[in-house]
Amino acid sequence: MKIHQICIFCKNDSSENTSIEHIIPESMGCPDNFYLPRGSVCSKCNNETLSQLDNALKRFFGLLVPWYILANKKGNPATFKSSNIFAENKAGDLQIHLNIKGKPVQIKEGIRLKSLSQNQGVINNIIWQDIDGIAAKINFKQKFDMNKSVKRALHKIAFEYLCFLKGKEYVMSCEFDCVRHFVIRNLSAREILMGEKYQVGDKDGLHQFKSFWGNLFLPFVLFNISFVVSLKDSCSELKIINDKTKELGGPILNMI
Ligand SMILES: [Zn+2]
Repeated sequence: MKIHQICIFCKNDSSENTSIEHIIPESMGCPDNFYLPRGSVCSKCNNETLSQLDNALKRFFGLLVPWYILANKKGNPATFKSSNIFAENKAGDLQIHLNIKGKPVQIKEGIRLKSLSQNQGVINNIIWQDIDGIAAKINFKQKFDMNKSVKRALHKIAFEYLCFLKGKEYVMSCEFDCVRHFVIRNLSAREILMGEKYQVGDKDGLHQFKSFWGNLFLPFVLFNISFVVSLKDSCSELKIINDKTKELGGPILNMI
C-alpha cells in the first residue's frame, strides 16, 4: 500500500475516502486551506470516531460557536442546543431561545427545549430578571466540561496539524502510536493545558496556531481559549512548560 492510501489514525487502507480532512471542524470555522489531502484518514475513522469527537468539541465550546460563526459552507446557520437553550446565528444576528417555563416547549420542528428546572446542560446558572415588563436581562455561565472526548478531539487537531506541517511520512512513525490510540481507540489517559487567551500567532484571528514548541508541544487558541497539547508518549513535561510559562509572565493555564 502506498503511503497516501494509509489512514494516519488506524493505519488501514484509506484509498476509498475521497474527502479532505478538515483540521478544525467546518462547523467551527475551519480556516481555508487548513486541511489534509484526501486519503489522510479512512472513512471508518472519519465517519465514526472523528465525527463523534467533532461533536464533543462543538458541545464543549457551546454558545461560542454560533456567537462567532455565522454559517457553515452550505449556508446553514451555526447553531447550539443544550437542555433549555437553543441558539442560532442568522447572518450575523445571534438569536437565543431560552425556555424559562416549568415544562418543555417545542420552538420549531425538531427543536424541543427542556424546562428551566431540567437545566443541566453546558449553559447553567441562568438568572432571568424582568426589568419593566418589556425588557428582560439574562445572565448565564457556561461550563467548559473538559471530558475525555474533548481531550481526544484536541489531540486530533494537534496531531493533524503536525501532519499538515511535517507531512504524512513523519507522523506515521510508531513514536506517535500512543496519540493515535488515544484519539481513535480511547486508550490510556492524557493531560492538556488549558487557560486564558494569549497571543500565539501573528494574526488576531478566531483560531490561532503556531509552530510546535520543541517540536511536539502545540500551543493554540480556539475561540479565545488557549490550549497546549503534547504529542509525546507522556504528558509529564506539560508541567515544566506550565511553570516556565508562569515564570515568563504568560497566561494562566491549568493542567487538566
Ligand atoms: Zn482509519
